[in-house]
Amino acid sequence: MSTQFESLGLCPTILSTLSSLGFEQPTEVQTQAIPHVLEGKDVLAGAQTGTGKTAAFGLPIIQKLIESEAKRDPQSNDVRALVLVPTRELAQQVFDNLVQYAQATELKIVTAYGGTSMNVQTRNLEQGCDILIATPGRLIDHMFCKNVSLLKSEFLVLDEADRMLDMGFMPDIQRILKRFNAVRQTLFFSATFDKRIKNIAYKLQSEPVEVQVSASNSTAETVKQMVYPVDKKRKAELLAYLIGSRNWQQVLVFTKTKQGSDALVKELKLDGIKAASINGDKSQGARQKALDDFKAGKIRALIATDVAARGLDIQELEQVVNFDMPYKAEDYVHRIGRTGRAGKEGFAVSFMSRDEHYLLEAIERLLDTRLPQEWLQGFEPSLVEEVEPERSPRRKSRSSDKRKMKAKLKIHANRGKKR
Ligand code: AMP
Repeated sequence: MSTQFESLGLCPTILSTLSSLGFEQPTEVQTQAIPHVLEGKDVLAGAQTGTGKTAAFGLPIIQKLIESEAKRDPQSNDVRALVLVPTRELAQQVFDNLVQYAQATELKIVTAYGGTSMNVQTRNLEQGCDILIATPGRLIDHMFCKNVSLLKSEFLVLDEADRMLDMGFMPDIQRILKRFNAVRQTLFFSATFDKRIKNIAYKLQSEPVEVQVSASNSTAETVKQMVYPVDKKRKAELLAYLIGSRNWQQVLVFTKTKQGSDALVKELKLDGIKAASINGDKSQGARQKALDDFKAGKIRALIATDVAARGLDIQELEQVVNFDMPYKAEDYVHRIGRTGRAGKEGFAVSFMSRDEHYLLEAIERLLDTRLPQEWLQGFEPSLVEEVEPERSPRRKSRSSDKRKMKAKLKIHANRGKKR
């Protein structure tokens, strides 16, 4: 059954785990990366979320750890393999996956991320561990308290490295590396790659093998995409309408601000749609509960900001909605990577108000393609530009607003004539 996994050089223990998990064939990134990792090479992999990248680094590392003669020393607080991730949610998700992949072994896998008690983590780290999954800030706290030593670590994985750099973790990573075993195997995973990221990867790695799964910055092929131009003030109404009329049971919605995500939850609740938000203001417990409720089908809409949603693994998610267009075009790739995972069909829709047109253009430039657009009946955008008084620092008089509005109407009327 696992013939293709077998051909990658994986050992019988891992092959039987994969078979019990129902993994029949390796994904592309697994096929390309696993043999190199098993050979001991550094790997620089460009792979989107949902492509199976956790197993791509996790399986060969697990195999090498169980096959190595060196074992965990319970008298020390040494870590044998470190996986650095940008967010708490991703740390928990990678942990859950690695525990599954190592279920037939005795390996000790531990997490350390912010928002939860240091004490429990300290106890877990005390007697050393085989694999530690950590966010950079919390790891530094533990290093500072001498709860953990990385001087003998054989493996370093930087997962979602692009986001780690975007979030300003570079100084933290450098601090961690100063106290990291220089003789190590370094694996670098990133959904998007630009020159800046490649430069840093090359500094941390030695002669890495490059693995590029889908074309740089491309979106998953299994995701159907659509842009709905709509007035800003009608976006919440449109979302409620789509959830109801299309009977969407599980939809992940992206807003650009934390406040926006909370406000949207309230609006959806008024329409009788169960929703919860997941953003950086929430405690780890509240975020996890929202995620669990969403996965269990207790809530239909999970409203998230980009940072909070990073790395969420939600199986068979069919709908992703960009309630606000992302400020950074790369985030579009990350956002819609939540759907169409592991070959499943997904649908990503984007609500675009007039002032967000330039953001769509940036996405189209990045993807080098035009995204289809459709005006939804009953939600056609008005021809008059939306005036946003809260954006102007000083409120002008009503008559000046009226004058502006008249001028805009005139412009639109003239444009209409030209056509
Ligand atoms: P990841 O990109 O590591 O977050 O993986 C995305 C999802 O795909 C996870 O839920 C994995 O359990 C699943 N997955 C990973 N590899 C395979 C595979 N070879 N066959 C089926 N599912 C997989």
